[in-house]
Amino acid sequence: MDFGGGGRSAGDRARRQLQAVGRLAAYLGGGFLLLSAASSVAVRSLRALSDANQRKFATPCGACAGKGTYACRLCRGTTTIEWSPMYDPVFVNPCLCPTCDGKRVQRCLNCLGKGFA
Ligand SMILES: [Zn+2]
Ligand SMILES: [Zn+2]
Repeated sequence: MDFGGGGRSAGDRARRQLQAVGRLAAYLGGGFLLLSAASSVAVRSLRALSDANQRKFATPCGACAGKGTYACRLCRGTTTIEWSPMYDPVFVNPCLCPTCDGKRVQRCLNCLGKGFA
């Protein structure tokens, strides 16, 4: 009975296949890590670039003149609104403006407070 030759070669083949799979997995894993690292760097640099471009080339927001805020349109800078639950001029209550919370200015909706569009 001879188990030697056949058995060893089958085992060798299996081991070689396993090694190939392992090498492939390592290669793929390394490639994926490299790729994700590269893409995150690329995304970060792209974002920085577009931010810089926006700041350099953006025109100041026309709605707030580049300030990012403008006088509250609801209360017109008075911090209160006249609100009546009954539409009755006798019971008009001054209420804290819900748009600006008494700050007299509201964030520009055109540029979302950034000052440029
Ligand atoms: Zn207001
Ligand atoms: Zn604006």
